[in-house]
Amino acid sequence: MFVALDARDERIQIETHEQAVRLRTAGTPYRCPACREELIIRNGRVLPAHFAHRSGSDCVVGEPESRDHLLGKHLLAEWARAAGWQVDFEVYFSGIKQRADLVLRRPGTVHALEFQCAPLSGQRLAERTAGYAQVGVTVQWLLGPRYFADHPTAVQGKFETWGPERGRELRFVDPRRRRMWAWWGITGTGMQVEELAPYPRPAVWRPRGVSLAQEASRVVQALAYRDKAAVAVQSMCYERGVNLGGCPVVVHRCLTAVAGLTDKEWLVRVRWLLRFWRERVWSVTASKQWWCDYVEPARVPLLGQRSVAEVAATAWLDVLIGEGYLVREGNTLRWIRWPRWYADVDRKLGAINRGEY
Ligand SMILES: [Zn+2]
Repeated sequence: MFVALDARDERIQIETHEQAVRLRTAGTPYRCPACREELIIRNGRVLPAHFAHRSGSDCVVGEPESRDHLLGKHLLAEWARAAGWQVDFEVYFSGIKQRADLVLRRPGTVHALEFQCAPLSGQRLAERTAGYAQVGVTVQWLLGPRYFADHPTAVQGKFETWGPERGRELRFVDPRRRRMWAWWGITGTGMQVEELAPYPRPAVWRPRGVSLAQEASRVVQALAYRDKAAVAVQSMCYERGVNLGGCPVVVHRCLTAVAGLTDKEWLVRVRWLLRFWRERVWSVTASKQWWCDYVEPARVPLLGQRSVAEVAATAWLDVLIGEGYLVREGNTLRWIRWPRWYADVDRKLGAINRGEY
């Protein structure tokens, strides 16, 4: 930690190795703002100078703090100051009992940064984010090394945010290589990868190379492993005289891979087809509303149920309209032709391989 209380209970923020030497020489006791235990000053070569509890402390405030977390906070402060922000470390908001890693201030703006290196449950993420909203502070979650990957999975997915310009977005900080980057415009087919610091560069598209045949095989796998949700949809399919294994190829196209759906996205799409199969005309609103039932809000605290439903529903309607199955007139939808169901997965894979679907 970079913040302690001095003998007069004033907040002391440790910033440099030189300052650490001065504080040590002064010999004043420094106490933890949370548990008020006396802290030691660590001033080695590898890490930024910082305060630490003595070993055996059971203080709950983020101890022991990882090397990555200390380095990352220091780095973020450096970048934020260079961008003209006033920066404070480890600011405690007593009203919500939360401590932000960093708080950035400009006249009229207070912004919290959380550099997340440890695992965090969706529920805690939701609580902490709601806490900041309660005190009128916007928060940006930045993900540390544990979350690095080539493509997003559920591990990162719960930290996704959404904006009108950049769509779904995640941000990462590598404290050792001193880099920050963003993934944005995230969909199941790829995403933009943009270096933000120290040298901003234009975004580069990173495709996600998943073939339709691979996607179609997931249906077979789900059934082979007796996946509960897939088995339930399979029996709905039988009632309609179709086979889940032969479900239309369009359910695998342009998947969003958005986090927070209760079932696999292709499976929710099949449910949607079974639901709207016989409708003559219906509304875009009803179609989007339908998706809300298949979102688990707790798993996407930053996006929220409505945004996830919107993302998944819009992509699905776009692909159905784009491939000529549906037509949209204002707020109404109407079938032009049914997507083709195959008798079984082999016939479907055959059609995919021949490019005839
Ligand atoms: Zn403490």
